[in-house]
Amino acid sequence: MNDIANNLETVRKKITKTCKAWDVNDGDVQLIAVSKKQPSEKIDGMLQAGHRVFGENRVQEAGERWTERKENYIDLDLHLIGPLQTNKVKDAVALFNYIHTVDRPKLVKALVKEMKVQGKKPVCFIQVNTGEEDQKAGILPHDFKALWDCCEQEGLEISGLMCIPPFDEPSTHHFALLRKIAEEHGIKDLSIGMSGDYEKAIPLVIEGGKVFVRVGTALFGARQI
Ligand SMILES: *Cc1c(COP(=O)(O)O)cnc(C)c1O
Repeated sequence: MNDIANNLETVRKKITKTCKAWDVNDGDVQLIAVSKKQPSEKIDGMLQAGHRVFGENRVQEAGERWTERKENYIDLDLHLIGPLQTNKVKDAVALFNYIHTVDRPKLVKALVKEMKVQGKKPVCFIQVNTGEEDQKAGILPHDFKALWDCCEQEGLEISGLMCIPPFDEPSTHHFALLRKIAEEHGIKDLSIGMSGDYEKAIPLVIEGGKVFVRVGTALFGARQI
């Protein structure tokens, strides 16, 4: 078995084990392989190992990497996990199956408009800046309700919430806050957990929903700069 297939098996086993420990259904955890800044051969290794769900944080880079592969692998599931500028909405709607980073009314409006034009509806999550960090994307927790109302008014369906905890704080508190906001609004899916803490994300699954763990380095090794 090559490195990539090995890493995939290791991560999957850890997920299965954690699911058992917390009495969570294995199928309620979706592993997203975060392929940003990874070399082509590693991505092909992951595809050969049978994995089909990938995450990217930049629209343009993702387009270069995935447009052609998408024609060869029709069952690919592509997730945008990085900030989305309105001038990239067209490309994002065309390429991605999921957009995890809806975070402002202007983007909501642009997405609704573009989805109508393309007749395509990627699944949308709202990103919440749970750590209230200036440099980080995402809606602040106290502004969430207004954005939620905007999505409702504009007709953008929201299936889940996503957060990236501050790197120097334990993530569990942020996961719990995100889960609380989700439950208050009847939202079922959570996009939480990365290489260092995906096992901690699993017990937070909401009944009837899924946890999407976004794992990069644990699957592919260190990223290229
Ligand atoms: C890069 C990235 C990840 C993956 O991080 P790792 O620590 O390599 O697992 C997850 N989520 C987001 C939003 C990212 O940008």
